[in-house]
Amino acid sequence: MKVLILTASFGDGHNAAARNLRAALEAMTPDPCQVEVLDLLDAVYGRLNQLAKSAYLGLVRHAPSLWHTVYKLVDAAPSLSAAGSWGRLRRALSDILLQAQPDVVVSTYPVYADVVAEIYREHAERPFRLFTIITDSISINSAWYRHWSDVFCVANEATASVLREAGVPTDRIAVTGFPVSPAFHDEQVPQLAPPVGPTERRILYLVNTGRPKLGRTLEELLALPQVQLTITVGRDHDLRARLHRRLDGYGDRVKLYGWTNLMPRLLLSHHLVIGKAGGASVQEAIASRCPMIVNQMIPGQEEGNARLIAQENVGCIAEGRRETVAAVERAFENRAHVWHQWRHHLDKISRPGAAYRIAELILAAGKDTTGPQIFQGWSPGVPVATPTILPPPASGPLLCDFHTHTNYSDGALSVSELVDFYGRHGFDCICITDHLADPRRLIGKLGRLSGLTLSPAQIGEYFEVIGREANRAWRRYRMLVMAGIEFNKDGCRARSSAHLLGIDLRREIPADLDLPETIAQIHAQGALAVASHPHVMKSEWGKNTLYLWENQETFAPLLDAWEIANRDNIFSPVGLKRLPFIASSDFHKPKHIFSWKTVLHCEKDPEAIKECIRRNERVSITLYRRDRPLRPEPALRSIDLPEMAEAGVVAA
Ligand code: ZN
Ligand code: ZN
Repeated sequence: MKVLILTASFGDGHNAAARNLRAALEAMTPDPCQVEVLDLLDAVYGRLNQLAKSAYLGLVRHAPSLWHTVYKLVDAAPSLSAAGSWGRLRRALSDILLQAQPDVVVSTYPVYADVVAEIYREHAERPFRLFTIITDSISINSAWYRHWSDVFCVANEATASVLREAGVPTDRIAVTGFPVSPAFHDEQVPQLAPPVGPTERRILYLVNTGRPKLGRTLEELLALPQVQLTITVGRDHDLRARLHRRLDGYGDRVKLYGWTNLMPRLLLSHHLVIGKAGGASVQEAIASRCPMIVNQMIPGQEEGNARLIAQENVGCIAEGRRETVAAVERAFENRAHVWHQWRHHLDKISRPGAAYRIAELILAAGKDTTGPQIFQGWSPGVPVATPTILPPPASGPLLCDFHTHTNYSDGALSVSELVDFYGRHGFDCICITDHLADPRRLIGKLGRLSGLTLSPAQIGEYFEVIGREANRAWRRYRMLVMAGIEFNKDGCRARSSAHLLGIDLRREIPADLDLPETIAQIHAQGALAVASHPHVMKSEWGKNTLYLWENQETFAPLLDAWEIANRDNIFSPVGLKRLPFIASSDFHKPKHIFSWKTVLHCEKDPEAIKECIRRNERVSITLYRRDRPLRPEPALRSIDLPEMAEAGVVAA
C-alpha cells in the first residue's frame, strides 16, 4: 500500500503533522518504504516558494495586520487556484499521481485539495482516497474544506462543528486529535507532582523570536517562589549567548536549550508552558497535558489555536510581560486551584496517540475501496506492533561515509533528514560525527557559545536520537547508521590542531581529555579512532589540522585509520606512508555528497565493517559524482523536508 503525504513549509503545523504521521505509519506497517512525504509547493516553485515563505515570515513579523488582510482575502476567494497561479503545481501533481499510484493521498495544507479537485474535475473515478488533516483549530480557513476529501481529520470537537456548519457531511469528519509526534504517546516520563507545597514549579518557556522585554520577563518569572525555568531559544545562537550571560546568576534554576529533539519529554515534565500559538505547539501542549499560556500569536491564522486554549480552559492568553507573569502567579496561587482546573480539562481532550489513530484510518481506507469508511476499532492503549528486523544481507561492495555532520553541530540537516538523504542515495553505512570541542581550548569556548558544536548537555539526547534513527534507517533503507563524534582539539596554529573521529561510539567521552586518552576511550567502546583531514588541505574556511600528522610516531600505532581524502581534498602522503585509510565527505550540506567516499568489501554488519577498516584490506575509495537513481521513485523528486525541525520540535 502506498501513501503520499503532501505538505508545505508555511507555519509550523503542516510539516509537523506530515512527519508525525509518517512516523506512525512506519511504526505500524511492515512495509514502511511506501510512505512518502512531499513538499510539492517547494519542489515545483522552488525559489519562488522560498520567496513566498520569506514574504510570509516578513509579513508575520513586521506587519501582522497586513497578514491578517491577506488571510481574509484567501478565505473569501472561491478557490485558491482561481488566481491561475497553480498551473505548474497541477501538472506536477497529476504526473506524480499517475506515476506513483498512491492508494491514499494525505494533505496537510489546504491548497492540495483544490488542485486534486481540479485534476479530477472531469473524471468521476479517483483512484485513491484523499485525507485532509486540518492543522488549524476553530478559526480555520475555508480553503481547508471547500473541496472534496474522503476524510477530514480534525483536532477537536470545536473544529468538527465548524465543518458541520459549513455543510461537510458528518461521516467524513473524524475527530482524531492533531497528529503530534508518536513520542508523546510512547514516551515514559515519571508522574509529575502537582505544583503545591514544597514542589518546584516547573515552567517551560519557548522563545520564538527575541522580543525586547524577554530578559525582563524571564527575571520576573524567576522572582516568583520555587520557579524552575527551562528555556528553549531555537536556532538563535546570539540570543542564547545573551540569555546565558544574563541568567548565569540563577544557577540550577535555569536550563537553557538551543533547539531540541526532546520536546515531548520537556512538555511532559513541566507544569506550564509559555509560548506562541503555533499549530504544532498548542497541540503538543494539549497532547502532553501541559497547560499553556499563550504570549504571542499571528493574527488570523493562529487566533484559532489561541482561542482553543481559552475556550477549552486548558490555559490562557496573556500577551505582554506583566500579563504573562500575572497569569503564572494566578495558576499557582490557592494551592494551584486554576492549574488543577486546566489539568482536569486537559485530561478530557488530550489525545497523544492521534498520529497512530490517523494512521489506522489511512491503513483501513487504503485496504477498502468501496466507499468512505471510518475505522472505529482503535483505542489509545493498543500497543503498536514492533517492526521485524531482518538479518543483514550477506556481503558486497558497501558504499560508506564515516564523517558527516548534522545540526547538532554545524551541519544543515537534522539527523532524520540526513538519514533520509543518504538512504535515498543508496548508501550502505554512514556514521554521524558531530563536532565536540575541547573546552580547554580557545576555539572550544567560542564554538560552544556560537552553538556550532555539540553542547555537553545534549550528548545524551544525541546518542538517543541517532539510536532511534538507526532503527528507522535499517527498516526503511537497510542502511547502517553509527553514532560518532569528531573531537576538535584546536590550538592557535595548524601544528597544534587535530580533529579525531570516533566511529561507532556507544556513549559519551569527555571533551577535555588529551588525544591518547581520548583514543583509549574510543577503543574501550569497540569504536574506531580515525584522523580527520590530517594533511594540508584547500578549504574556504578553517585552518589545517596537522598535529596528528606531525606526531605520526606517536599516533600511527594508536589510530585505526587516516582520512586519505576529505571531501575534495586528497592527501597522497597518507598513501605514500602506507597508512591505513578511509575517505569521507565531511558532510555539512547536501552538495557535499559529491565527494570522496569509502567502499568496503565485507558484510553489512557494524563489526565486520570496523574489522575491514582496521585490517585495511579490500578497502577502496571512490569519487561519488552522480546520483544513483534515488529510492524509491525518481518521480518523487524532492521528498526531503526543507524545514530543519525534528519530531516534536517547535520551529523557532
Ligand atoms: Zn574536522
Ligand atoms: Zn568534520
